[in-house]
Amino acid sequence: MLEYLDDTIVAISTPLGESALAIIRLSGKEAITITEKVFHPVRNLPRCHASQRISNGVRPSKPLLEWPSHTVHYGKIIDPETKEELDEVLVSVFRQPHTYTKEDMVEITTHGGFVTPRRILEVLLHQGARLASPGEFTKRAFLNGRIDLTQAEAVCDLIKAKTERSQKISLQQLEGKFSQKIQSIKDKLLDLLVELEAVIDFPEEEIQPLKNLRTEILKIDDEISSLIKSSQKGLILRDGMRGAIIGRPNVGKSSLFNLLVERERAIVTPIPGTTRDVIEEWIDVDGIPLLLADTAGLPSETKDLVEKEGIKRAQQTISQANLLLLVLDGSEELKEEDKKLLETHFHSALETKTLLIVNKIDLPQKLKKENLKEHTDSVVEISALQGRGIKELNQLILKIVEENGFSEESVVVTNLRHRDILERTLLALKQAQIAVDEKMSDEFVTLDLREALNCLGEITGETSTEEILERIFSQFCIGK
Ligand code: GDP
Repeated sequence: MLEYLDDTIVAISTPLGESALAIIRLSGKEAITITEKVFHPVRNLPRCHASQRISNGVRPSKPLLEWPSHTVHYGKIIDPETKEELDEVLVSVFRQPHTYTKEDMVEITTHGGFVTPRRILEVLLHQGARLASPGEFTKRAFLNGRIDLTQAEAVCDLIKAKTERSQKISLQQLEGKFSQKIQSIKDKLLDLLVELEAVIDFPEEEIQPLKNLRTEILKIDDEISSLIKSSQKGLILRDGMRGAIIGRPNVGKSSLFNLLVERERAIVTPIPGTTRDVIEEWIDVDGIPLLLADTAGLPSETKDLVEKEGIKRAQQTISQANLLLLVLDGSEELKEEDKKLLETHFHSALETKTLLIVNKIDLPQKLKKENLKEHTDSVVEISALQGRGIKELNQLILKIVEENGFSEESVVVTNLRHRDILERTLLALKQAQIAVDEKMSDEFVTLDLREALNCLGEITGETSTEEILERIFSQFCIGK
């Protein structure tokens, strides 16, 4: 059984900082009574300052405990112990079960900033609420059966979405599209199991053994395989692609990086080896997030310790990248270091895509372009200084990114946890196929199919352990 704490939790649900408003959220049996202790409602919205109206004898409205669900009320937060007035607020009351957590909930809209929301939070904690752990509101929504685990995960993804496309796909998952897909596969498995078990339980009834058992298992196998395949794109969509600009020192990597991220982020100087650390920035390529890295130039050898570390980090970034932009200097002849880079990054066995860029075309050209043909046909010529050729480069990047994109209608796997479980499901199905092929008794097939069904239950959360839940919800921010 999963542990369910039914005490009352509280958290600031908006980011701390200078802002017009902040929201403090409470959920649990005592949410309304705790708020009642600190909230002093005022019946009419003030035309003058509220403190004047209270001292002028404006009658407070009826107590919070009597308020109907889904209503908003104006008043003040006063520390019951010191009687100090902390803020003018709006309090929204939501009574269970029609709330985010399916428990009684209160949302207090306060003024923003670093101090006010925190002071009110402290007072609420003093009155008996407990500080919520990360994702605890959503965890309660899940434990109370309002949403399944994939939908809870989608809430987290939605908050963290970096582009419109990743936001869209998280929303799809939140609406239950992914759960429906998993449910439809589970239904098919369950149908097979029911038929198989009938054969096992009533052998004397001469129920026809399932002739098409193998085909049916294969069909389910196909569906799961294509979901697993979709995760390659899905994960890129959610977490983004990784791109890195590489090349020997001084070819213009940082200048190109600044152009692509559209602001001066990297330091550009004529001194080779200026970029010592890896600088990264997210850019949005037609809705797909691309984490672009400007790496240290890659001289063949250096004695400088800092430069050495820079090169080590650059190599790490390069090994993780899905897309490389290899920059050459058009105003110089091809150097040994350039040749080495060309040989390393342009051969057919490589999975990582590399785009070849010739920079500094505004200067007299010494680089012999025909020498590049043996490595690649497509060379983009640019001037990072003048911004020439950047449009064409952007289009090429977009093309590569799109090859990794997704079609909006299809359900894709965007979560590593889901992919791992699907792989285990597939393994169980393969076992079932072997059992069928080797004409083992139906009990064995049943066992494997049950295992597959259990795995799928882990995705939606029906068969998840506390440990798994902890891992998932700990990735949330506090207050969600
Ligand atoms: P990195 O070491 O590869 O990152 O190169 P930087 O971006 O720091 O540039 C090295 C030098 O080349 C700087 O002086 C830049 O102003 C210059 N540079 C970069 N791109 C161009 C270009 O397209 N044309 C010209 N003429 N100079 C450039």
